Amino acid sequence: MAEMIKHYINGELVSGTNERVGDVFDPATGEKTKEVMFADQAIVDKAVDAAKKAFLSWSKLTPLRRSRIFFKYKMLLEEHADELIALVTAEHGKTLDDARGELTRGIEVVEFACGAPHLLKGEFSENVGAQVNCHSIRQALGVCVGITPFNFPLMVPMWMFPIALVCGNTFILKPSEKDPSASLKLAELLKEAELPDGVFNVVHGDKTAVDALLTHPDVQAVSFVGSTPIAQTIQQKAVENGKRVQALGGAKNHCLVMSDADLDQVTNALMGAGYGSAGERCMAISVVVAVGDEVADQLVKRLKAKIATLKVAAGTIKDAEMGPLISQQHLDKVTSYIKLGEEEGATLVVDGRKLQSSKGYFLGATLFDHVKTDMRIYQEEIFGPVLCLVRVPDFETGLRIINKHEFGNGAAIFTMNGGVAATFSEQVQAGMVGVNVPIPVPMSFYSFGGWKHSLFGDYHAYGEEGFRFYTKLKTVTARWPKLTEASIAEFVMPTAE
Ligand code: NAD
Repeated sequence: MAEMIKHYINGELVSGTNERVGDVFDPATGEKTKEVMFADQAIVDKAVDAAKKAFLSWSKLTPLRRSRIFFKYKMLLEEHADELIALVTAEHGKTLDDARGELTRGIEVVEFACGAPHLLKGEFSENVGAQVNCHSIRQALGVCVGITPFNFPLMVPMWMFPIALVCGNTFILKPSEKDPSASLKLAELLKEAELPDGVFNVVHGDKTAVDALLTHPDVQAVSFVGSTPIAQTIQQKAVENGKRVQALGGAKNHCLVMSDADLDQVTNALMGAGYGSAGERCMAISVVVAVGDEVADQLVKRLKAKIATLKVAAGTIKDAEMGPLISQQHLDKVTSYIKLGEEEGATLVVDGRKLQSSKGYFLGATLFDHVKTDMRIYQEEIFGPVLCLVRVPDFETGLRIINKHEFGNGAAIFTMNGGVAATFSEQVQAGMVGVNVPIPVPMSFYSFGGWKHSLFGDYHAYGEEGFRFYTKLKTVTARWPKLTEASIAEFVMPTAE
């Protein structure tokens, strides 16, 4: 019988009664490896109840004491790195090196969160009026929820809970049902770091679990990362239920290549950014915008040669550069886009379908040239190893099409001209911009978030925005009159005079 993945509530593994279950697969073989419980209302109630109770004492601890737990957590994450990345590769399929990369980016958020005593400092103004001082404080919200996608089972949850917790909140993670095991290891290590029970909880499941969390009156805030249609629904539902919400959605990231760029550097960058993690990254480059036919022809030639040597294999194989896709369903979706691209009239330069095997969800790197902006393969997020090349005559046309696209997560430019790069950085309609950097995922002390249909809500993830999202601001205006002074009633709107 397949191993059953349980929920983690109040410091222990918990099963529901008569719950639905989902199957978990090894994408490299297509074999079912585990089953995961899908939470119902009763399990969600139990998790919220535990988190609500734990909030009472956790929120009272000093920020320094909370952050010390995360210093210890960082050490434990590093100690257990091999186990963590093995869990990711077994259920997601990405290469072990790539999984290590996401763990590193997650640990960086933990390191940033350790600065809570500093980052939670408020502001103070002396003498804003006669004998009046003013100060602001940031207080925890209560029970916070994180709903995360399959593509970063470690990093995306770690964008959320370390910051939520050091701020004094308690947390319920609803990870992707496709690769749920890593979340339990994260929980186990939190317990080892001496996080009190109930402060961090994991419930597995699908829409039923998410709906129960979104409508629960004791949940204060919801962080979501996933596809745009779901992000939009989550944001609306969370707002209707009176919750603070940040919902990060899908992407179609463009890379504008100018004629003065170093094309060898660009080709290497596009290989990694287009095909790394089988294109299943919200910051993957999926559209190359080449300025001029000479640049386009050169890029197609160089990419074709590089793709021929790309090592597509199970993520556990040494030197593998690209693993399988997450599921059969997703493989079918991505291959249907390749068929669609041919029907729409784009030139299929490299057809990754030739690399499909009878075992596992493998697909080779795919390259389309002469892609037009009215094609669906240009407009829609494919989320696979499919790179579309669009030819434009000049910088202005390239910038215009990028800005017209529905999504605005990331955008990159490759050029040796500082003025062009500066104009691009200023005018491009995207939340994260790379200059000669293909995947500009901000460091943990900045914040991550897109524009347009790539983010719904007002706050980006982690960095100082994370601290703002997970706290509410209170401003205290205080007068301490001298004992000898007489007071009078005032009926006009107070001013500082
Ligand atoms: P998804 O939207 O299918 O699922 C995300 C989460 O929502 C999962 O936990 C899932 O169980 C839950 N969910 C799915 N359907 C739901 C429904 N109808 N109601 C409530 N909850 C539901 O996304 P995915 O396939 O897991 O991940 C890939 C997507 O995530 C891509 O679109 C990618 O661009 C996006 N993504 C975005 C970012 C970002 O920062 N903007 C980062 C990573 C991934």
